[in-house]
Order: sequence, then C-alpha cells, then structure tokens
Amino acid sequence: PIQTNNLEAFWMPFTANRQFKKAPRLLVGAKDMHYTTADGRQLLDATAGLWCVNAGHCRPKITEAIATQAGQLDYAPAFQMGHPKAFELAARLVSIAPDGLDHVFFTNSGSESVDTALKIALAYQRVRGEGSRFRLIGRERGYHGVNFGGISVGGIVNNRKMFGTLLTGVDHMRHTHDPERNPYPKGATEHGAELADDLLRIATLHDPSTIAAVIVEPVAGSTGVLPPPKGYLQRLREICDQHGILLIFDEVITGYGRMGTPFAADYFGVTPDIMVTAKGLTNGVIPMGAVLVRDEIYDAFMGGGENLIEFAHGYTYSGSPIAAAAGLATLDTYKEEGLFERAQALEPVWADALHSLKGEPHVIDIRTIGLIGGVELEPIAGAPTKRAFAAFLDAFENGLMIRTTGDIIAMSPPLIVSEAQIGEIVDTLRAVLRRLQ
Ligand code: PMP
Repeated sequence: PIQTNNLEAFWMPFTANRQFKKAPRLLVGAKDMHYTTADGRQLLDATAGLWCVNAGHCRPKITEAIATQAGQLDYAPAFQMGHPKAFELAARLVSIAPDGLDHVFFTNSGSESVDTALKIALAYQRVRGEGSRFRLIGRERGYHGVNFGGISVGGIVNNRKMFGTLLTGVDHMRHTHDPERNPYPKGATEHGAELADDLLRIATLHDPSTIAAVIVEPVAGSTGVLPPPKGYLQRLREICDQHGILLIFDEVITGYGRMGTPFAADYFGVTPDIMVTAKGLTNGVIPMGAVLVRDEIYDAFMGGGENLIEFAHGYTYSGSPIAAAAGLATLDTYKEEGLFERAQALEPVWADALHSLKGEPHVIDIRTIGLIGGVELEPIAGAPTKRAFAAFLDAFENGLMIRTTGDIIAMSPPLIVSEAQIGEIVDTLRAVLRRLQ
C-alpha cells in the first residue's frame, strides 16, 4: 500500500494543491473513459485529464508505439541532425492543419509553445524590417501557460503579481464575456463581435506600427469556458491584417478535435499566422507541443537576410523520438476512429445535456461549444471558489472527475465519450448540485 502521510515532504505540488497536499487524491490507473483511484474506485473522466487525453486513456496503439520507439531509438539530438519520426509527424500535422500553416516547430508543452510563438513573432517582425514592432497584446481572462512570456500576455493578474515587470510592451484587450448582452441561457455567442475593436483602442493608444502580435485562445478554457461572440475572431483577423499585426491562436485546449474539427481555426473559419498547440497532440501521454507557422515566417528565417541575427531557440527534447512516435500513433487513432467527426456529431448532444442543468440549484450560467462545457455557479458570498470546490469533491466521491476554475465547473470529456456516458456525467452533476450548500 502507498504511504500517503508524508508525501508533502518530498513533492512540491501544483500551487492549487497546496492546502490539500496532506491528503492527495491518488489516481493509480486509467482505461478509456475511466480513472482508478488508490482506494479502488472508478471515476468517469469528464475532463480528459487536463483537457488533453482526447482519445481516451491507455490506448494500446499509442502505448505500443511508445514502447517500440523506446526500444529502437530512444533519443536523438535535434542539433544538426534529426530522425525520421519528427519529420513524419511534422508532415502529418501540416496535413490536418488549416491551409497556409505549413511548418512546424516542436516543443514539450503548451507553455513552451506559447513562449516559442511570441519569440517567433517578435523575431519575424525584425527580420522583415519591422523591428519597431515590439508590443505583444493578450486578453483579459486569457491563459497562456506559466512561463514568463505566457504570464505576461496572460490575463490572470494573480499569476503575474509575484514576478516583477515581466515582458514590457504588453497590453491586454477586454475579454469577450458579457452576460449583460448575452443573457443566460442563450450563451455568450450572439452579440459582441465589435469587442474585437478593443484591439483598435489599444492600437490607437500605442500606435499600431509598434504592435508585433496579438495572442488569443479561440475559446478561453482555463478561465471558465468563454466561447467568442459570433464574428469576433473574423473581426480580430481583419484588424490584424489592416495593421500588419500577427495573429496567434493558442489552441492548446481547442486543438486536436476538441471542437469537432481538427482545430478551432477550422471551426470558426479564421486562420491565424501562428498556431500554438500541445496537449491532444500526443493524447497527453508524453509531453509535447507544436507551433505551426505560415510560409512567409518560415521563409524569413530560413532565407536569412541582413536583419537576421542568428539566435538559438530549441529544447533538448524538441521532437524527441518517443514523443514523435506517440504523436503519430495519436493522430492515427483520431483518424482511424473518426474521433473528430464523432466530437462534431456529439456537440449538440453535449450542449442539450448540459443545458438540461438549467434551473438546478446555484447554476447561474451554462456555456458549451464543441466538446467543452462550463457550468457557472453562484459564488458563496465572501468565499469565492468554495462552492465549486465542494462540487468537485462530491463528484469525486461519487465517481465523476470534473475540474473547477473559480466558481465554474469546466468539462471536456475524451472524444470517445458515449451518449450514455454524457447522460451519466450530467445525472451525477445534477445530483451533486442538489446536495450542494
Ligand atoms: N495555453 C492554454 C490555452 C492552456 O490551456 C494551457 C494549459 N492548460 C497552456 C497554454 C499551458 O500548457 P502547459 O500546461 O502544457 O504548459
């Protein structure tokens, strides 16, 4: 049996776990849609781990590919050499990515992909003779990981406060969630495309020719599932084009079928200049991220030119053989099992199921898009997050894994979820809500 009483002495947990480290909820196994807990219970996974296990857990094809690769070529430096699987994975990624995003840079996480994308954007502007473009624009309630670039452009103020000035020249657009104009239960999608004009406000404030890039999650995930208003991303694209600003989509959550399309760019019909991905790329099994860029950006770097200062950017594990093998097997699984199409077919089933929670105790808003869902609870006065956390604990004890962010329950089941399991998720959640104080 695992001794859990002194784990805190050895393991420095996620900050969010600080107060719970003496009694960690240990997961010891997983298969398809379920986790097994240390005390032998089955949990239905309504979160795909942390929005990443899109093909479900412990899929034999993926685990076998990892084992085979580990026994064949375990590691290969990506300095002045390479190995076939990384090239093959890059080609496969380009084949499913939106037209125009034809070149891939491998990282090991979402946070690394974000910082890589910001560096590519700034360096590209210099290479093309636009070195005065040094500003990076993020958005309130944006989440872009925890590295320095990501927390600078991210919109969670508490994630920044401890770390001094961070990147300078960063500003944040207003977030798009406007319950006043999009009253529940309609969802936050009908009105508000003009909120993208907040980029114009910022551009006017600073001079648009100083802005290098804008980064947004097509659907803000970690801050509570905020689908954009209709036309918002199109408008953002137009403004970027008008002013020579690069548009970066952070698709760490929305990529790899989560929206029922390969990427959210396909769902919304808007192609960014740089696309940031991770998580579902390897089914969350092996750390890996990928940044995709347009031809002009690739050509600017590969072609050199007088403005290019040779700089090093790459990680020891960029495109490692085992990660690349996992990525290839994951993309095979998505394709062979038609999981993106499956997610698309389930989108209305998922939406109807979650919206059936309307009117349950404490529910003040419900938002769904693709196979993502958010159920916002009325906070307990003076004790924010307490009610949602109580919901998490109750669900965990009753066989359901959900995730909470603030007072919002966030869900994103593996794309293999069945209609019956969607029913089970919602039934368990309904019972949880009815027991909540
Ligand atoms: N960007 C977005 C949109 C994310 O949701 C996340 C992680 N939830 C990240 C970046 C950071 O990814 P990672 O945790 O792999 O560094």
